[in-house]
Amino acid sequence: MLHISNTRQRHRPTPASEVVSRAEILGLLAERGPLSRGEIAKQLGLGAATVTAQVRNLMAEGMVRDLPAGQSAGAGRPKVPVQLVPDAAVVIGLGITPRSVVVVSMLLDGEILASDVVPFSPDKDPVGQLAAVVTRQMQDMAHPGRTVAVGISVSGAVDENSSTVIISATLNWENFDLGQQLQQALDLPVFVSNDLFALATREISFGLGRRHDDFLLLGLGPGVGMGIVNRRSVFYGPGGASTEFGHMSVDPEGPRCVCGNRGCLQVYAGLKELLAAAPDPTPETTLDDLSARASVPGSPASSYLDRTGRMLGRSLGGTVNLLGISTIIVTGETTALWEHLRNGFEQGLQETVLRFHHPLTITVREWTEAEGAIGAAGMALHNAVVLNRSDPAS
Ligand SMILES: [Zn+2]
Repeated sequence: MLHISNTRQRHRPTPASEVVSRAEILGLLAERGPLSRGEIAKQLGLGAATVTAQVRNLMAEGMVRDLPAGQSAGAGRPKVPVQLVPDAAVVIGLGITPRSVVVVSMLLDGEILASDVVPFSPDKDPVGQLAAVVTRQMQDMAHPGRTVAVGISVSGAVDENSSTVIISATLNWENFDLGQQLQQALDLPVFVSNDLFALATREISFGLGRRHDDFLLLGLGPGVGMGIVNRRSVFYGPGGASTEFGHMSVDPEGPRCVCGNRGCLQVYAGLKELLAAAPDPTPETTLDDLSARASVPGSPASSYLDRTGRMLGRSLGGTVNLLGISTIIVTGETTALWEHLRNGFEQGLQETVLRFHHPLTITVREWTEAEGAIGAAGMALHNAVVLNRSDPAS
């Protein structure tokens, strides 16, 4: 049976009660720059003793340092500001698709150092290919020894504790202990995650989670999925398969879905399905084509995306009522159509969300090809540095 090893002192995970303050301090320094301990305590509503202890720990790990003398501003009683050491730790993130791997290296403050896209075949020695990608990325760095972890995001169900891919239909992997094998090849902690969960995990430490302990991350791409973050933790569900928001039924008489059921949200809002069912589709209908057609007011494409947005909003509204979480992030390739989906989406939410869950906060993230890899890197940073986890797959 696979489990997290915590037998060695330096790899002992940070206790849960300290995780939040550690994450908050790192996040605050990344966002605001150098701050005194007193200012950190004030900004985060933490006790002075907690901040002093956490800063001491982070300093011992080399993650933060006192700003050199002479650079602290202000008169009166000296208050030495603390600053993040961004290159104290580097993580490498891999976003895997059936034909390519996007690789990024990320600093402690979330800044991307470098990124690349390399060809990939999931069925030919994937561990060897991925080890080569990571090794090459490390060789290109000024300080390769500072790489503390590797994060990988894949589409599919993943056992996050053992970094094992339970099933990935797009990569044709099943019960694949990718994390453990790659960790042995690289001698570095390797964290494997579902792509949406990786993005949600990244948001906890390096995104919206800095201000919200609870939020929903709606993923609009080839699959329609949702990551639920409750009290700064991702809800994985038994078997790691809780993301399947797209298979919520919206019409019992609707078309057959890939899952075998009828009228799932996926049938209407999945990227491929959305393009195929658009008015006047052509074999090459793209997001750009559809967006251009929907830009004509009153056009069939405009009405079509309005209806789709409303369906998404109504489904999400039910989830907001169920969970009581009203902070929402929208991400994924299909957000390229957001200007056309937004009105319907907001209408759908207004029609369904109970009054006491208002106001809703909706943040739409711009999607790029590197987003999967960035999510994977942020997830690895969160696990390895913020949570102080190590040996995830041993
Ligand atoms: Zn379905």
